Amino acid sequence: MLTISALKEELTSPKHILITTHFNPDGDALGSSLGLYLWLQSKGHQVTVVVPSEFPDFLSWMPAQEHILVYPKDPQTADSLIAKADFLFCLDFNHLSRINAMENAVRNAPGKKIMIDHHLAPEGFEDLAHWDSHAAATAQLVYDFIVNRMDDRQHISPEIAACLYTGIMTDTGSFRFRSTTAEVHLIVADLITLGAPNSKIHEKVYNSATEVRLRFLGYCLLNCLVVVPEYNTAYFLIRKEDVNRFDIMPGDTEGLVNYALSISGMRLAALFIDRSELIKISLRSIDEIPANEICSKYFNGGGHLNAAGGSSTASMEEVERSFRSILPLYKDYLIE
Ligand code: 5GP
Ligand code: MN
Repeated sequence: MLTISALKEELTSPKHILITTHFNPDGDALGSSLGLYLWLQSKGHQVTVVVPSEFPDFLSWMPAQEHILVYPKDPQTADSLIAKADFLFCLDFNHLSRINAMENAVRNAPGKKIMIDHHLAPEGFEDLAHWDSHAAATAQLVYDFIVNRMDDRQHISPEIAACLYTGIMTDTGSFRFRSTTAEVHLIVADLITLGAPNSKIHEKVYNSATEVRLRFLGYCLLNCLVVVPEYNTAYFLIRKEDVNRFDIMPGDTEGLVNYALSISGMRLAALFIDRSELIKISLRSIDEIPANEICSKYFNGGGHLNAAGGSSTASMEEVERSFRSILPLYKDYLIE
């Protein structure tokens, strides 16, 4: 095991450090990883961020993203960095299955593993956890780690602040989800004080659609949306031919599921998209409706109470049928 104070002591001399985050990295995954990367680098450590898959274009402006190593592009180099790291920071996930092809290399790495995360039910692979399922974002926990555990607020540069701001902004849906507490606003205010260019970040993340992505959104709203009024549920079914027609990449469906939840009265929203080898599922809910339980019980996944995901190898028709058959089981939650 490792304690925070032992880690703080260890980090007073240069170390080899690896940072990784979950498959299909989102704004919080990259924001927390790059924020921590820049801070560790400023302390004189040899640091590399290795991600298990490509990240979406709307994050390609982020400070230091050009130094990220995408695992499948050079697994040999990544494996040797993983093997020689003194410390491996695992950010925004708590099950090693979330880093796909990197799982075994990280699991077997001799270095100490530090998990910083806010998802439920950690697997327990780490030597040290900085974990809080009530945190709005992993970037919030990285802020807490640097400021309160490492006592080093003074070395948060404007670039680090920008990375952490991006993580909190994207994981709170721009500060509107229930996880957005007064404390979150205080942290965000401090990040702006430290130089995060807040309105520029909003513009870069939210005004970055391509024409084809916007037309795809219009297409989905018109053709792929199914509403089940009796269960206050709405969902999108995006089939293989739709994905091919618009040449849709993983990041292009980011946020789409929220449109289903934006219909007045809807309490549960889903997105089913055919990703060839499997159907990927995104679930969003309000109040106490357990999106994570639905995903873990029926769709081989998990996540947060109100935002969860999973996958299935069944056909789209079967996935839709099973989703609709689940709704009556949750009628006490879905019908107020
Ligand atoms: P999204 O719908 O944006 O892909 O994912 C929302 C949340 O659900 C993520 O932050 C993550 O916590 C969780 N999640 C998404 N996909 C999976 C999955 O396949 N397995 C697990 N365990 N969690 C997932
Ligand atoms: Mn997160």
